[in-house]
Amino acid sequence: MSDPYDLAILGAGCAGLSLARELIRHGYSKRAVIVEPREVYTHDRTWCFWASGQHELSDLVSKRWSHWQLSTLRQTVDHRGSGFSYQQIRSDDFYQAHLAKVARRSNIKLRQGVTAGQISDQDDHVLIETTAGAISARRVIDTRPRSPQHDQATLWQIFSGAEVETDEACFDPSVAGLMQQMTSDESGLKFTYILPMTAHAALIQTTRFALRKTAPETLDREFERDLRTSFKTKTKIRRRERGCLPMGQTRQNPLPSDRVLRAGQAAGVLRASSGYGFLRIQAWAESTAEELASGQRLLAKPYGSPLERKMDAIFLAAMTRSPHAAADWFARIADQLSGDEFGRFMSQSPSLHLWLKVVSSLPKAPFVRALLAGMPEIDRADHQVAT
Ligand SMILES: Cc1cc2nc3c(=O)[nH]c(=O)nc-3n(C[C@H](O)[C@H](O)[C@H](O)COP(=O)(O)OP(=O)(O)OC[C@H]3O[C@@H](n4cnc5c(N)ncnc54)[C@H](O)[C@@H]3O)c2cc1C
Repeated sequence: MSDPYDLAILGAGCAGLSLARELIRHGYSKRAVIVEPREVYTHDRTWCFWASGQHELSDLVSKRWSHWQLSTLRQTVDHRGSGFSYQQIRSDDFYQAHLAKVARRSNIKLRQGVTAGQISDQDDHVLIETTAGAISARRVIDTRPRSPQHDQATLWQIFSGAEVETDEACFDPSVAGLMQQMTSDESGLKFTYILPMTAHAALIQTTRFALRKTAPETLDREFERDLRTSFKTKTKIRRRERGCLPMGQTRQNPLPSDRVLRAGQAAGVLRASSGYGFLRIQAWAESTAEELASGQRLLAKPYGSPLERKMDAIFLAAMTRSPHAAADWFARIADQLSGDEFGRFMSQSPSLHLWLKVVSSLPKAPFVRALLAGMPEIDRADHQVAT
C-alpha cells in the first residue's frame, strides 16, 4: 500500500467541501484525499442563514431578504433586519464552486463514486475500507451521516416541498415567510416555509416538528394539499426538496480511533431548537483548517455553548411535553425579539441577555415542569478529539 495520506475526509457534502475550501485558503500543502459516493451532484438543497455584510461565501449568495415574517392563524410578526439579512445559497452553486477549487489543487484528491466503510486503527495511521480498496491516512475527518440506529433525537424537523412556479403573481419577493400559518396540536408544530424568488416563483415547504422520525415523503400529500389551498392558480413544480433533521441529537457511538474526528450533522452540528447548522459548519471548517494547516493538534469543538445546549434541551423537553403550545411559543419569541435578535437566536449561539429576553416572553410553568422532569442530554460533540 502507498504511503498514508496526511488527511482523509469522508464525505464531500457541506462539511467536507467547506473544510477542503478552508484548507486551500490556509495553504494546506500535505496530501489529502476526499471520499464521496456521489458521481454527480444535483441541486438537492438550499442553505439559508442570517449574516451581515460581506463574508467568505458572499459570491455564492443567490438571494437576501431583510424582511421576514412568522405567523399563526391569529397573528403575524414582521421582522426587519438592520445588521442581518436572511441569505440563501443554492447547493448546486456551492457544490460546483467548491469542486472547481478542489480540482485545481494537486495535493487534495477528490475520489467521487467511492463509498467509505469500516475504519480501523493501525500503528501510526487509520485504515479505511472503501468500495475502491483500502485507503490509509494519519488523520480522518468523518462527515458521513449517522446510521439509522445511532440517529436519535428529541424531535425531528421533517419537511417536504418544492420550487414552484405560479401562473399568477402570488409572492412578494422582498419578504421571506419563515414560519407561516403556524399551528400545533398533540402531534407537534406545523408551518409553511415560503422563500419567494420572484412574484411567480418560490421555494415552499410544509414542515413539521414531530416526536417520531418519519420519511419526509410522508408529507408529500400534505404539501400538495397545502399548495392547492393556499394558491388558487396553476402551479408547476420545478424541483422537489425534502429533509428530516434531528433536533437535539443524542450521543453517537464511540469513535474507532483518536485519529478520527467526526464533523457536520453526524457530529451534532445542528442547533437543537431550530435545525440551522450551515454557519456552524463554516465556523468549524475555518478553525479546523487553521489547525491542520499549521500542524497543530486538532481540538474538540463542541457546537454551541453549554448555556445554549442546556436551554435548548429545556425548550425541546417542554415542547415534547406540550406539543400543542409550540406555535404560540414561537410566535411569542418572534414578537419579543427584534429582527437581528431573532436571526442571532435561530442560527447562532445566543447570549445570556438574549436568552433572558426569550425566557421573559414564554409561560414559565411548562419549562419548570420540563426542567424538574429531567431532559435528554444533547450531543455535545466533545468526543471529537484527534491527535
Ligand atoms: C434539504 C435540506 C435543507 C437544509 N437547509 C438548511 C438551511 O437552510 N440552513 C441550515 O443551516 N441548515 C440546513 N440544513 C441542515 C444542514 O446544514 C445540512 O444537512 C448540511 O448539508 C449538513 O452538512 P454535512 O456535511 O454534515 O452533511 P451532508 O451535506 O449531507 O454531507 C454528507 C456527505 O457524506 C457523503 N456520504 C454518505 N455516505 C458516505 C460514505 N459511506 N462514505 C463517504 N461519504 C459518504 C454524502 O454523499 C454527503 O456528500 C438542510 C438540510 C437538508 C437535508
